[in-house]
Amino acid sequence: MELYELNLRSAAEGLKTKKFSAAELFDACMARTEACEPHVAALITKTAELGRQQAKESDERRAKGENCGDLEGIPVILKDNHCTRGVRTTAASKILGDWCPPYDATAWALLRKAGAVLLGKANMDEFAMGGSCEKSAFGPTHNPHDLTRVPGGSSGGSAAATAAAYAPFSLGSDTGGSIRQPAAYCGVYGFKPTYGMVSRYGLISYGSSLDQIGPFARNVEDLHLIMSILSQYDPMDSSCFREKTYDFMPRKEGLKGKKVALVKEFQEFTLEAPIAEGMTRTRKVIEDAGAEVVEVSLPVIARYAVSCYYALAMSEAHTNLERYDGVRYGYTVPDAKGIKEMFEEVRTAGFGAEVKRRIIAGTCLTEPTRCDEYYVAATKVRTLIAQEFARAFEGTDFILQPASPTLAPKIGASDADKMKEYEADLYTLPVNLAGLPGLSFFTGYAENGLPVGLQLIGPRWSDADLLNAGLVLEERLGSPKIACALEGTKGGL
Ligand code: GLN
Repeated sequence: MELYELNLRSAAEGLKTKKFSAAELFDACMARTEACEPHVAALITKTAELGRQQAKESDERRAKGENCGDLEGIPVILKDNHCTRGVRTTAASKILGDWCPPYDATAWALLRKAGAVLLGKANMDEFAMGGSCEKSAFGPTHNPHDLTRVPGGSSGGSAAATAAAYAPFSLGSDTGGSIRQPAAYCGVYGFKPTYGMVSRYGLISYGSSLDQIGPFARNVEDLHLIMSILSQYDPMDSSCFREKTYDFMPRKEGLKGKKVALVKEFQEFTLEAPIAEGMTRTRKVIEDAGAEVVEVSLPVIARYAVSCYYALAMSEAHTNLERYDGVRYGYTVPDAKGIKEMFEEVRTAGFGAEVKRRIIAGTCLTEPTRCDEYYVAATKVRTLIAQEFARAFEGTDFILQPASPTLAPKIGASDADKMKEYEADLYTLPVNLAGLPGLSFFTGYAENGLPVGLQLIGPRWSDADLLNAGLVLEERLGSPKIACALEGTKGGL
C-alpha cells in the first residue's frame, strides 16, 4: 500500500509508530496530487513549500517527544473559502485576486495546532454558490471517478481531492448541501455539523445564517476524529455556542433500537434508478442493524424549502458581498474615473455570472418596498420548517434521504435548466434552514462505476449519534475505494 492511500487513522498510527515520517507522508501525498491534478484540477493553490516545512516541524516535535495527537503530521486540504494566513485565499473568485488573509480561520487554526499540514486550497463554485464546482474563476474540477462528470459542489475540489487520495481528509463548507452532495458524487463521507458546532470565523461568508464548516474523509471514524478537533467553542463567532462539550469517541452501537424515518412526501419525487436502489439497500441494512424504519410527513419542507432557502441565501449573499468594492480586497482597477466607476468596474469584471445573478436577486428581495413580502416572509417559513423538523424528531431518531436525486451529472449539464439545478438541492438545503447535522455516506457503486451516496440527518446537536450510526452503515454497506479513473492511466496511478 502506498502512503497516500492511508486513511487518517492508519496514517496517524504509522506516524506514531515511526513507520514513516510526516515529511515522507507529505511527499507521497504531494506526488499523488501532482500526478492527478492535470486531469482532476481539484486545487486552486498547492502549498508544497509551506506544507513541507510544516511536515518537517511536525517531525521535529515528534522527535523531541512532544505530546503528539492524531492529527500530528497529517496532510489536509482546505476549501478555498477558509482564510489561511499568508496563503492566497480566493473563494474561486476573480474579485479576491491574490488576496492573502492576515489571519487564519479558526477551523484551520485548530487543525494546525493539532499538527495538521496544509497541502493545498481546493476549488469550489465561486463564493460557494452552486452545486457543480464549474462556476469557478479557475475553471471546473473533474470527478475522479469519471472525468467527464462534475464532482458536485460547491466544495467539489475538497471532495474530489479526498476521493482521489491527495490527502486523508479535507474541509468544506455547507450552506445548502455543499459538503453532502459532492461527498455523494465523489464516493467519500461528508459531514455537515449542527449550525454552531464549528466556528465560522475566517470562513468567507455566503449565507451567514446557513454556512457551516465540516470535513470530508474516506471513512466515518476519521470524521469522528476531525470533529473532535473542530468542535470547539470560539468566542470569535457569536453563532458558535456550547451548552456542553460533545464526545466524538466512535461507538458502534449506533442503530440498535433506533427509529429511522423516510419522508412521505419525498417518495413521490423521481430519483435516478441507482439512487432509488441505494435507498432500498440502505433501508434493509438499517433494519438488519436492529432499527425500525418509520415514516414522517414534512409537507411544508417538500413544498416551500427550496424557495425559502434561495430567498434567504441570496438576500444574505447580497449583503455579505457588498464589501468587495475594489478597495479592501485583491482585484481593483487603478485607472477608474471616480469611486462609483471603480465600484462598478470592479464588480462587473470581478464577479462571475452566477454570483451577479444572486446579488441582483438578493437586492430585489430585500429592497424596502418588497422586503416584507419576500425576505421577511421567508424567515417566517424558515421557522415553520424548523418546527416541522422538531415535531418529526419527536417520533424518530434519524431521517434517511438522498443527498441528490441524481448521480454526478456530466460537465456542462447543470447550466441548462436553472430551476432544475436549484430544485436538485431539495434534499440538502432544509437541513441548513433548520441548523441540523447531516451525514453523507457511501452506499455502493452504480453499474457505470459512479458512487451512490445518501444522507442521514438528525436533530440539532445529535452530531455524535449521527456519526456513530454512520459507522454501522459503513460496516454493512462497505467503504469506498480510492477514485482512480484518470485519463491515460490503466486502473489508476
Ligand atoms: N447549491 C446550493 C447553492 O447554490 C448550496 C451551496 C452551498 O451549500 N454552499 O446555494
